[in-house]
Amino acid sequence: MKSKKVEEFEISRRNFLKTSAALGVAATISGIPTLSQGAEAKKSPVKSRMKPGMINSVLGPLSPSKLGLTLMHEHFVFSYPGWEADETLGPLDFKGALQTNLEAIKKAQKYGIKTIVDATPNDNHRDPLLYKALAQKTGMNIICSTGLYTEEEGSAVYFKTKKAWFGLDLAKFVSEIFIKEITEGIGKSGVLAGVIKVASGPKMTPYEADVHKAAVIAQKATGVPIITHTQGPTGGVEQADFLKKQGADCTQVMIGHVSNSKDIEYHKAILQRGVYIAFDRIGLEPYGKTEDHIKNISELCKLGFADKIMLSQDTVNYWWGRQIKPPEALVKALENYRIDFVTEKFLPAIKEQGVTDDQIKQMMEVNPKNLFMGN
Ligand SMILES: [Zn+2]
Repeated sequence: MKSKKVEEFEISRRNFLKTSAALGVAATISGIPTLSQGAEAKKSPVKSRMKPGMINSVLGPLSPSKLGLTLMHEHFVFSYPGWEADETLGPLDFKGALQTNLEAIKKAQKYGIKTIVDATPNDNHRDPLLYKALAQKTGMNIICSTGLYTEEEGSAVYFKTKKAWFGLDLAKFVSEIFIKEITEGIGKSGVLAGVIKVASGPKMTPYEADVHKAAVIAQKATGVPIITHTQGPTGGVEQADFLKKQGADCTQVMIGHVSNSKDIEYHKAILQRGVYIAFDRIGLEPYGKTEDHIKNISELCKLGFADKIMLSQDTVNYWWGRQIKPPEALVKALENYRIDFVTEKFLPAIKEQGVTDDQIKQMMEVNPKNLFMGN
């Protein structure tokens, strides 16, 4: 049995070597790796601000031992591209977003959540400065994404015209964004992205394939995990196969929204690819019934898959744009859609079905840590 310290050292060393090798890096005396990409970079090597063996949180390097109970897929803020066109009537409300999320985070903390991964990609207007303020005010560890949403619901037109008009290698073009945001920061915020988020529709389009390729390029360069959005009850197997074929490290891939399907054979088929699966819309009933999730997760735990499952809720705590009162029917349909549903209601429910405390700890704490560290 290795001591915790030795184990931590080994993880940090392994991650450092992996990151360094992938970056073609010569570690400097201070231990800060430099990114060196091709002839261009040889002229002026780019400094990476990543810390070996640490996770990029919005407040800086985070030790994997500090992750604790983790929600792997939530959104502090979100909006579909186009909300900017409504800015006259629905201006960006930083204060409103801050207040709403402070309350949400307090609720999560009541049940011991220590880390929240914000899965909002670039084209759904993530806000690194908001996340920073939230982390500072609450003590919650926050990890944010670099990524792009689906072709149908994201900002594909900008990227597709770049490819069509200028003949750009889109995968490379997009990977440059991901790598820059992971190693140097998002815009001028100084915040480093800690996960790569990609998405595909029911069938992966050529644009989405380019974005997935970009994610693998960035993962190879940085050692950061890839997390995904799948649309509807399919797409997970296709994503896992595609990422694997591109050479992704499957121990650092989490296929999302598998809870859109109640078919346990679909879940098993994705698991066979060696990736993590995320039941990450628990409580979002229009996309899957809680009773089905209870049944499938307890069955998968019995089958020995607790070490490959993540649990989260895909909450959107604040929508950018004009605030509209939702109709009663929608409020009713979303009554379990909240940041503390998993911890308050769902974990006790799966325990009743025989899922053990150790398995819960595995899914909520150990798996996120392993995903980040690539075990
Ligand atoms: Zn999401």
